[in-house]
Amino acid sequence: MLSLEDRYAFISTLYIRMQIVHYPHPALKFKSVDVQQIDGTLRKVIRRMFELMYEANGIGLAANQVGLPFRFFLVNLAARADNPDEELVFINPVMKKRRGNEIGEEGCLSLPGLYGDVRRAEEVTIEAYDLSGQGFAMDLSELPARVVQHESDHLDGVMFTDRMREDNESDLVDLELPKFEEIFRSAQQENLFAADAELLKLVQQMAQSGKIPPNFLETPVHKLSAPNAPED
Ligand SMILES: [Zn+2]
Repeated sequence: MLSLEDRYAFISTLYIRMQIVHYPHPALKFKSVDVQQIDGTLRKVIRRMFELMYEANGIGLAANQVGLPFRFFLVNLAARADNPDEELVFINPVMKKRRGNEIGEEGCLSLPGLYGDVRRAEEVTIEAYDLSGQGFAMDLSELPARVVQHESDHLDGVMFTDRMREDNESDLVDLELPKFEEIFRSAQQENLFAADAELLKLVQQMAQSGKIPPNFLETPVHKLSAPNAPED
């Protein structure tokens, strides 16, 4: 009988070195679980996530966009590594208030190149913990409010294309999603990604154990091409 650690090691070899995953990776549909512990592994993962986000010119990135089923996301509205003061980490975020609504264009690093109109609350109050475990609350409006709603949705397995459907943009979604599906399926055929069942199993095991596998950052590198337009 393999230990949990050994099973992670085995499954991680079928997985991929941490990278931004694209639709329809099963982690993106997964309802993430609370972070139980802020430790060194989490800090390393978050550091690497910021790098990946900057490489892709993004302004927000949720944990399940790198295949991790935990409730945290990061934001840097400057989308640049040289503005570390603007780096925000939201751990176990809870949306306390939503006021008004507004339609605005969004994109997503897990659906590179696709943009569409989404209706969001105009202002939100969000509570979360930072990397030092300190609780904080923020009242946000405009772009920051939109970004945290987009990222919070990710943690519930909701993508902005699901919101586009709510606002009568189903035609565009129906046209575009199959293209991403095709790319992802061929990556699986080339063994760049494991099959959905394996990917889902890893995500479920991590969620169940509440832990990020220690070798999550170091498993073999295979990279799909990344986009270069600003997206969140
Ligand atoms: Zn997104």
